[in-house]
Amino acid sequence: MANLLVVVIQCDDVTKRCSGFACMNDFYERTGAFADYPDGTRYMSMTCGGCCGNFITAKIEHLTKKLEQINFAKQDVIVHLASCICSENSHRQPCPFMNRIKNTLTRKGYEVKLGSHISKKAQTKRDAGIYKSWQ
Ligand code: SF4
Ligand code: SF4
Repeated sequence: MANLLVVVIQCDDVTKRCSGFACMNDFYERTGAFADYPDGTRYMSMTCGGCCGNFITAKIEHLTKKLEQINFAKQDVIVHLASCICSENSHRQPCPFMNRIKNTLTRKGYEVKLGSHISKKAQTKRDAGIYKSWQ
């Protein structure tokens, strides 16, 4: 089986305050959204490029070109929209452009999953109805 590549797309706004450590750590600990990825799976993260999500087109095309250069098949890439895009959290509301970003990635031929690291504190607030639930 070919190695996979996991790409986590973070909210550009949120990365002004978040290093992305918790997403990366969950991946290497193989927990939560990343529990099932086999050994040898590669990991990278990037931001959406900022509101209103239009820059994701150029960024994903750049990635596609780079993958072609190393003969890495698009089919072996799984894109996760980070939880800070898909759900309300301490940083901000869910992204109002999430579906647009997701559709762009899908149209470009990538498999897209929703969610990455899930903060226990934020989930408690979602469960209590204080934060909007998962989109
Ligand atoms: S488009 Fe969405 S994910 Fe990107 S910066 Fe704006 S709110 Fe964040
Ligand atoms: S999901 Fe959490 S840890 Fe991951 S990039 Fe967003 S705010 Fe940071």
